[in-house]
Amino acid sequence: MLRRILLAASASPRLRQLITGAPATRAIVDSYVAGETAPDAVRVTRALRAAGLLVSLDYLGEDTKDQAQATAVTDQYVQLLGELGAGGLTRAGAAEVSVKPTAVGLFLGTGTAAGNIVRICAAAAEAGTTVTLDAEEYAAIEPTLQIAAKLRAEHPDLGCVVQACLRRAEADCRALAGHGVRVRLCKGAYSEPEAVAFTARRDVDRSYARCLRVLMNGSGYPMLATHDPRLIQISGSLAHLTGRAPDSFEYQMLYGIRPAEQRRLANTGARMRVYVPYGGDWYAYLVRRLAERPANLAFFLRSLGSRG
Ligand SMILES: Cc1cc2nc3c(=O)[nH]c(=O)nc-3n(C[C@H](O)[C@H](O)[C@H](O)COP(=O)(O)OP(=O)(O)OC[C@H]3O[C@@H](n4cnc5c(N)ncnc54)[C@H](O)[C@@H]3O)c2cc1C
Repeated sequence: MLRRILLAASASPRLRQLITGAPATRAIVDSYVAGETAPDAVRVTRALRAAGLLVSLDYLGEDTKDQAQATAVTDQYVQLLGELGAGGLTRAGAAEVSVKPTAVGLFLGTGTAAGNIVRICAAAAEAGTTVTLDAEEYAAIEPTLQIAAKLRAEHPDLGCVVQACLRRAEADCRALAGHGVRVRLCKGAYSEPEAVAFTARRDVDRSYARCLRVLMNGSGYPMLATHDPRLIQISGSLAHLTGRAPDSFEYQMLYGIRPAEQRRLANTGARMRVYVPYGGDWYAYLVRRLAERPANLAFFLRSLGSRG
């Protein structure tokens, strides 16, 4: 309930001011975000690679309102991919990028977003790595999947994301798993209405487990994005049951969340990728992390109370 209220209220300028100005905010941002610049992102990527972890980098920002901004975000990705490639970090897809379609102009027209995503895919191919299109709010889901399906003719390794909280998730997994696609499965970080989404945690978890079964039995490359110990255990059992080789799927977690578990999984020989956000536009990302972790929210609210 608290999660839904916080996500719904996050568009309010007053709440934005309160959160961005709170003393505890910087510490929480620093624990979830790699830094503001591409060199920060490259430095963190190098450290994670040294620990045997794979990386997906996200340049923070979403819901871009004009073409110039969409182009600027695209330029950031192209530049980052060049730097990662030059530093030998993209070999065999070790570091890739995650892109929010609304950040590169999805709501300015699918042509704008598709053109920008093509530029990012070309830079990724040049660097020897891949791109994954994040899943965002419900209005962005269908256009994102359509762009991904179209661009896959030229870039077959373009990945996409299924949010298990959506009622359509299992059907999407079936369609994608049959086509050998790279699919990230997550629970879903947005607040969606009952008509299109499961809202009880238990139902979301059950949907995740059903989707997991579909993807692990399919011919694609499942990317299992969760910190949930139970779902990670089920993933391991399914990999065993379906006879999947360790390099035919991967686990994914967010930078700063359960780092010991990330290293543990990598040490078992599993492919473990860390999603690393960087950039100055961290507000929406931070709110989603606060909303899904009551302990963080409590810490944050206490710091508001102790202000001044
Ligand atoms: C690699 C990756 C990519 C993602 N991409 C997308 C995307 O494209 N679209 C989208 O909608 N969502 C995305 N998400 C977010 C996802 O949908 C969930 O909101 C988020 O991962 C929390 O769900 P969970 O599966 O970890 O389960 P939960 O039940 O939320 O958490 C399980 C356990 O993980 C730990 N944990 C979870 N969140 C936090 C936190 N913020 N701080 C500290 N500990 C925490 C706690 O121990 C918790 O008990 C992504 C997540 C990951 C890991």
